[in-house]
Amino acid sequence: MDVDLIIAGGGLVGLSLAHAVAAAGLQVAVIDPVPPEAATEAVFDGRVSALGRASYRMFDALGLTGDMASEAQPILDILVSDGAPASGGYRGPSPLTLHFGHTDAGAGPLGHIVENRVIRVAQNRAVAQQGNMTLIAPDRVLDAEPDSDGVTVRLASGDKLRARLCVAADGRDSALRTAAKIKTVRWAYGQTGIVTTVHHDRPHAGVAHEYFLPAGPFAILPMTGNRASLVWTEPTARANAIMQLDQNAFDAELSQRFGSHWGAVCSHGPRWSYPLAFHLARDYIAPRLALIGDAAHGIHPIAGQGLNLGLRDAAALAEVIVDAHRLGLDIGAPTTLAGYAQWRRFDNMSLAVTTDLLNRLFSNDLPPLRLARNLGMALVDRIAPMRNLFLRHAAGEVGTLPRLLKGQSL
Ligand SMILES: Cc1cc2nc3c(=O)[nH]c(=O)nc-3n(C[C@H](O)[C@H](O)[C@H](O)COP(=O)(O)OP(=O)(O)OC[C@H]3O[C@@H](n4cnc5c(N)ncnc54)[C@H](O)[C@@H]3O)c2cc1C
Repeated sequence: MDVDLIIAGGGLVGLSLAHAVAAAGLQVAVIDPVPPEAATEAVFDGRVSALGRASYRMFDALGLTGDMASEAQPILDILVSDGAPASGGYRGPSPLTLHFGHTDAGAGPLGHIVENRVIRVAQNRAVAQQGNMTLIAPDRVLDAEPDSDGVTVRLASGDKLRARLCVAADGRDSALRTAAKIKTVRWAYGQTGIVTTVHHDRPHAGVAHEYFLPAGPFAILPMTGNRASLVWTEPTARANAIMQLDQNAFDAELSQRFGSHWGAVCSHGPRWSYPLAFHLARDYIAPRLALIGDAAHGIHPIAGQGLNLGLRDAAALAEVIVDAHRLGLDIGAPTTLAGYAQWRRFDNMSLAVTTDLLNRLFSNDLPPLRLARNLGMALVDRIAPMRNLFLRHAAGEVGTLPRLLKGQSL
């Protein structure tokens, strides 16, 4: 064997698994077509991630939060409100607002907002210091050939690597998933998420705002300073037109939706756009192969949960692998992998379906549905145990948590 574990994809999820497993003493190779310096350039990925409490605890257990802390914005409150179009613009949030406060849910913030670039910088620094991990980039995994002892992974460079197990963390168009003939259920939403950073006059006090507009959700995610990141969802044709607007016209459109709660607002820096789609792999495992993160599932960003799910995959798989290794078992054996697939399938499937339904329920302006969702939100807002259940889901604190998500080392 060249290494114990090969991970295709050095994205946020693949590198998290690599850190966890390498820190426990296994030899890991990570392959990615994008060199680490390019992946941390400001233009590479303008997104932020809303990391639930459990995900942030995992980064803490992996020793990554020291490098992120000064740029991680604690989420103190979440405001969810329905917005309906008025002639010529958007009226403000409905008075039937759903409010989640951090004091409702025990100690500490509900989570943290961190720029993806900042997470990558922290991960790359840790890669450089981790002797058990090799990052091979740029290169690309083509396919993986399993046999009784291990798996041979073929790279685009012509190199071959051998390990006990190969993990596909190579994103939504996973080459390894295709090569293993794992089918997916998938559909496109016909919506595109516009992402940009805005500056505003008044402090946001750590409040994240999800504003449901008929065209799709408009999420305002507080960043450090008087800044916020937007995930502004529109039907794709309209999103493409908005992307072409000059700064003044773009800011006028955005101010209409943003409201005036944080004073004057203006966009800053580049804009990104992400066509939104759903996919779920029918199987998470194949002989000597396990799928994690977006290679296994891609969900609507309406609840900011895609990365959180991927980190839960990484934490569960890391625990299963490390426990098997310590017992002297084969980390790529079918029984080891079955434990991982069983652990993760229900959580991933239920959140994928929930986010899909939420998007269908909220991305329209049908009066009966508007009434039903407003009443639903008002009801949840008034019933503390229901509010707390939603909060625990958002924080990633339901179900059997892997040790890393409890903040423990492996
Ligand atoms: C607009 C938007 C906002 C979002 N906001 C949030 C949020 O607030 N919170 C949250 O939890 N989630 C959020 N998400 C979801 C989240 O961004 C993704 O779920 C997450 O980034 C997936 O990470 P990943 O590492 O699994 O996949 P990716 O980030 O896609 O990484 C895959 C990696 O594999 C590499 N690769 C590709 N092909 C190969 C190959 N053949 N061989 C080797 N490597 C390969 C790629 O270069 C890449 O580095 C959002 C998504 C969108 C679109």
